[in-house]
Amino acid sequence: MRSEAAFTTRPAGEVVIIGAGPCGLTAAYELCKAGVRVLVLEQDPKTVGGLSRTVEYKGFRFDIGGHRFFSKNPQIEELWTEIGGDRMLRRERKSRIFYRGLLFKYPLEIIDSLKNLGAMESIACIGSYLRSRLAPAREVKTFEDWVVRAFGRRLYEIFFKTYTEKVWGIPCNTISADWAAQRIRGLSVSALIRAALRWPGKDQPIIKTLIGNFRYPPHGPGEIWEILAARIQSMGARNLMGERVVTLERSNNRIRAVITENRSGTSRHPGDFFLSTMPMRDLILAMDPPAPPEIVEAASGLRYRDFITVALILDRAEVFPDQWIYVHDPDVKVGRIQNFKNWSPDMVADPRFTVLGLEYFCFDSSTMWHESDENLIAMARDELVHLGLADYKSIVDGAVVRQPAAYPIYDNHYQDSVRTIRRFLECEAVNLQLAGRNGMHKYNNQDHAMLTGMMAARNILGGNYDQWRVNSDALYLEEGEPEETGLRLTPISVAPDELAPPKAG
Ligand SMILES: Cc1cc2nc3c(=O)[nH]c(=O)nc-3n(C[C@H](O)[C@H](O)[C@H](O)COP(=O)(O)OP(=O)(O)OC[C@H]3O[C@@H](n4cnc5c(N)ncnc54)[C@H](O)[C@@H]3O)c2cc1C
Repeated sequence: MRSEAAFTTRPAGEVVIIGAGPCGLTAAYELCKAGVRVLVLEQDPKTVGGLSRTVEYKGFRFDIGGHRFFSKNPQIEELWTEIGGDRMLRRERKSRIFYRGLLFKYPLEIIDSLKNLGAMESIACIGSYLRSRLAPAREVKTFEDWVVRAFGRRLYEIFFKTYTEKVWGIPCNTISADWAAQRIRGLSVSALIRAALRWPGKDQPIIKTLIGNFRYPPHGPGEIWEILAARIQSMGARNLMGERVVTLERSNNRIRAVITENRSGTSRHPGDFFLSTMPMRDLILAMDPPAPPEIVEAASGLRYRDFITVALILDRAEVFPDQWIYVHDPDVKVGRIQNFKNWSPDMVADPRFTVLGLEYFCFDSSTMWHESDENLIAMARDELVHLGLADYKSIVDGAVVRQPAAYPIYDNHYQDSVRTIRRFLECEAVNLQLAGRNGMHKYNNQDHAMLTGMMAARNILGGNYDQWRVNSDALYLEEGEPEETGLRLTPISVAPDELAPPKAG
């Protein structure tokens, strides 16, 4: 498959970029530096940054998930430094796992885990681990099989099962074992014991790659994207907010213009070249004339996991010292709790208060997604109190943000669908570049999304980059080892329709 670099001449007219997230803005910056005219169209009426934006509520700030700034790619680190300057904070990671009233260090440490579990439970865990080693399962097909064989059933239930199921909304016995092998690579009971004894072994360098240290802008990730948006505008780019692309007009193998919906109706934006970071599914469904039925079918099959943040404001100066806590407790729906003050003290309007982000992973077809804000705040408040992390009196306010398409889902069909769509666009939209996370249906972090944006922009300038190799081939424009996989990969299902959104709940 070619690299979508069908561009041999510099654009004479305007380049239209869909989306003012990290990818779209980075691409715009690259093009502005080359003196090209750029138009950025963003559906959000006010805020740039996409999934990496910062939301402000009564002077309190929070992210859509906590956003660590960390990249193996020096160009990206330099760009963040160029934009954020000396203001960027350096943070030591502090995160733990909450399980049945106990907090376990994460990354896991064996002494801490055993101490927390207590003598009886520790003996039971060791027994269950030894059983799985002495009589290992013959067939290892699923995530559950893999983890039980490696750690024993009890440790699987405490440290792996619930959180994974909360994030992806599917049972662990339907997720492929390959995914466990990737996600938990390097982590084993023997590696944990060696780490505790400070005894070097072959697994240890891999465990060290868990990111212990990262950067963070004082006002959250959105600060970086606001600065970059202002910069590209000062360089002549137009950045129109509240413009949702609903149609892409195409003829003679090229995109001619996009139509946007805005507050006052619709607008048409012609262009020489187009760069899309909007979800691939929506892009294909917006084609006019429509894409052929098999392409529409492929696009309609692309799925996303959605995400709700309930921000709770507490009139407590300190609640817990972590930046975030993974909630493995099966009694509550919350999957992770961010404490934004521990990312940066400037995330709170007043140092006597704390802002927490309770994160719920769901589908937009679920009842939770359609609950009123009031009910979601009440649920989050009840769960926080139930976990013993706060009392009712201390929770003084709350706000809700629903984020559709937070995670592109890698199910059994997505690779074929993406391939089919790419083939179609390569022939029928030769002046269109796809980039970014949902733009490529790829589980990219900010750095990878930015890299794909840079490459797509350079392709428009006549380069020949393959942005599809980013985050697939660790050595492509990256230096050093592959990125931490920790809790960030998406699972592969072993059953045909296991990743289908549940009907409710
Ligand atoms: C919970 C969570 C935690 C994360 N944590 C980290 C982290 O710690 N570190 C990290 O580096 N990354 C993290 N990420 C990933 C990071 O958010 C993304 O990689 C990054 O935002 C992708 O940039 P993008 O520009 O490709 O896409 P997006 O951020 O999705 O931006 C796309 C933009 O396009 C706009 N758009 C969409 N459709 C249209 C349309 N039809 N018309 C006009 N505009 C449109 C959207 O409004 C959006 O602004 C996290 C993501 C999530 C969900």
